Order: sequence, then structure tokens, then C-alpha cells
Amino acid sequence: MRKPQLSTFYTEKMVLKEGEKNFSKSPQKPKWLLDFLEKNELLKYLEIYQNFEPFIKEEFYIAHTQNYVDRFFEGKKPLAESNNLEWSPQFAETVQYTNASLYEAIKFALKNPESICFSPVSGFHHAQPMYGMGYCTFSGQVIASVKIFRETGMRGAYIDLDGHFGNSIEDSRSFVEDLNEAIPKGFGNINPSGSHERYIDNFKRELNILETAILENQINYLVFCHGADSHEDDDTKGQCNTKEWIMCAEIFYNFVKKLDEKLKKPIPLVLCLFGGYRKDDYDSVLGLHAKDLVICLNTLCGQEIRFEPILMPK
Ligand SMILES: [Zn+2]
Repeated sequence: MRKPQLSTFYTEKMVLKEGEKNFSKSPQKPKWLLDFLEKNELLKYLEIYQNFEPFIKEEFYIAHTQNYVDRFFEGKKPLAESNNLEWSPQFAETVQYTNASLYEAIKFALKNPESICFSPVSGFHHAQPMYGMGYCTFSGQVIASVKIFRETGMRGAYIDLDGHFGNSIEDSRSFVEDLNEAIPKGFGNINPSGSHERYIDNFKRELNILETAILENQINYLVFCHGADSHEDDDTKGQCNTKEWIMCAEIFYNFVKKLDEKLKKPIPLVLCLFGGYRKDDYDSVLGLHAKDLVICLNTLCGQEIRFEPILMPK
């Protein structure tokens, strides 16, 4: 049986202080989401772990050239802003904490598989070994999973339902020698293709392939990244309408539920945020993320929470 709360790896040090730039992009999202959950009486379903160490500079060398990492932490343009975000010393510090959050969440989930872990982060899946890209500074998934593999031999799969194709894992394979073991090729990074019904069919097919890999012990833990920008009203216009977006969450958590029964033990599971952009109504983005967490809690954690997000039509 799963724990009734989500073990959440969050500290305010992951968040850009008010007044800093990059408004409405990922750096403030973790805090806005937690505030939104509090307002909707959902914060009590998170158990927050905030005493974890940030990554030191050298840990980023796992997935990036020393040149890129060093220039980023020095704030030297253009590399320091190759992610399209304005650099500041505090922003650089948030990145050390967001990347550590995902690593800590996976580590905890592997040790305590009955706890579903939540790392409220985004800004990882477009980064390249030599520079950042598309609001993403470093390849947090690559660094977390390679560290985990080197420490424990455990291998992960990422189910990436952000509206944008997550390229950082595939683009790092030739740079990071043991990445093919840490996140195995083929079923490592799942990004469904198409939109609407085709997207959902493709997602289900990918989950079937993943299930075989898990049952054959090729994959030991899952990271689910349900970006809200795969919703069609997102500023970047995603693949799913509201019903379909919610259905994807239901499909995934029911997949995990059946998997737990087949394995006769809970599979280590971590949740992340990833994208979501609405200049007109950011609460629509946060509402979708909250709905995903509620579906997880109701499907896997024995909760019976009633929550419907208020989504502003575009
Ligand atoms: Zn995205």
C-alpha cells in the first residue's frame, strides 16, 4: 500500500525571489503551485522534505561540458543565458536546488517505494551538453539518473507528457558514457506523438512496451512529468483537450496500480511538473497540475479528494 501523502522535495531556495525576472516561466512555478495547493486545501497531502543539499558545480559536469557549467555559474553571456532566461546569482542558486530535488526524490523513492515522491520542478528536458535551451539550463534528468545509477545500479524511465518533445536525454547519450544504462535506450524517454486520440493511443502503446521492460527488470523506477503545456489552451498550444489531458493522468496512474499488483510491490515513482504557460490565467496551469496530483492520490494513495480545476477558456 502506498503512503497517503506525497513525499515532496521542496525548499524556497528552488524559487526565484519576487521582483527577479523570468516572470511566468519555470523559476517561480514550484512556489506558485504550493500556494495554489494551500488555497485549495490540498497542501496537507504533501509531506515536505526541505533539508537537502544543493548540487555543487562539479555535479553538473556529469551531463555538461566544464566550459558551459563554469561560464553559467560565472554569469558569462551568451552561455549563461543560452536557456533564454535572465541570469542572476540567485537564479544560479535555484538551479542547484531544483536539480538536487529530482535526485533526492528518486533516491528516496528507491529506498521507500511505498512513498510516491514529488519533485516540483521543470526546466530540464531541452538542455544540451554544451549549452542550455528553451528555458532549460541543465539536464536534470540525466544528472539525477546517472548519479543514481552510479550509486545503486538502478535504471529509470521518464514518461514525459510535456507538450514539447523532451530531447535532453537522447541528446546526451554520446556525451555521458553510462547514460544508456542509467536510462535505457528505447523505453527510456517516453514522449507520445500526434494529438488527441492518436496521442492517447500512442501513449497507451508506449506504456505496454514499458510494462514489459519493467517486468523483465530492465527498468527499476519511473518518473512521470505531466507538463500542463500539453493542454490545447496553453500559450504553446498542446495536444490534448481538458478531458484528454485528465485521461492521460488516469491512464498513467491506473497503469501504475496494475503494475504494483503484478510486481506484488510498489514500483518506485517520482512526479515532476515540467511546462505550462498561460499569460492570461496562470491558475489554469496550476489547476491542471493540482488535478494530476489529486488523481495520483485518489488512484494510488487511498484518498478520496474532490477537486475540479477551474480552467479559463481561451
Ligand atoms: Zn514544454
